Order: sequence, then structure tokens, then C-alpha cells
Amino acid sequence: MLSTSHSLISALIVSRIFPPQLSLPLVLASHYLLDIVPHWDTGTGLTNGHKSKKKAVLETLVDVIVGFSLVFIFFQKGKPFSPLLWVAVFLGILPDLLEFPALFFGKRPFPINVLEKFHNTLHQRAKLPWGLIYQIVVLIIVFTLFY
Ligand SMILES: [Zn+2]
Repeated sequence: MLSTSHSLISALIVSRIFPPQLSLPLVLASHYLLDIVPHWDTGTGLTNGHKSKKKAVLETLVDVIVGFSLVFIFFQKGKPFSPLLWVAVFLGILPDLLEFPALFFGKRPFPINVLEKFHNTLHQRAKLPWGLIYQIVVLIIVFTLFY
């Protein structure tokens, strides 16, 4: 899924579930569970050469900026700075960040190669617009139930 989707759901989990010893592993697990939903993300088309690395990086930067901005607006604004919130957001996108060496440099050191394989077995892709619509539906359902 997009970093925006992972960031928002990670922030929601860590702000609703205590203690962090429970919520942080759930944040990490949520990444893999959310990736089961057929989706489009900024890495779509990169491995088969349908998208340039430059375009993927630019889209990823926009995605991360949008995600972090929405987390700030919905979870941080007007409250004391929460390191736990931002650790959770980082953890929520970590499985995708760990794929950067493989995608951009062709490097797959252990244990990243094992995590990448696990990640890819769960990852379901869908083309636009459905790949975006499914994510929005998931976000609406999760936020309606738990925000
Ligand atoms: Zn992922």
C-alpha cells in the first residue's frame, strides 16, 4: 500500500492500543496485512520496467510527505510531540523502506532478502483506479470504526 495508508493506520494503532510493547508489533503486522489488500503503490511497475526509478522516487517522496502531513494533522497537531507516534509511523513503512537496496541497487543482503520474500508473497497489486479505491475504502472502514 501507499506510505500514506500505512502511516495513517500505524498512527491510529499506536494512538488507540496500549502499551507500545503491544501496539508496535501490531503496527508492523498491519503493514503485511494491509499489503494483502490489492493495491497500487509508488513501487508498482518498477520491477517490470514500466516505471523509471526517478519517477518512483518522486512519487514515493510525495506519498511520504502526504502521509506524514496527514498524520501530523490528525494525530499530532495541538498535542505535545509524541516520539512514539513517529516511531510507529516509521515502523509502519519500514518493510517498504527495506526494499530500497534491492530495488535500486540490486543488493539483497540477509536478512533483508528473507523479509523481501515474505513481503512479496503477501503483496497483492491492483491497477489504477481500483488499486487506489480499495485503499481508500480500507482507510474509511478502519477510521470509521476506530478513530
Ligand atoms: Zn509493503
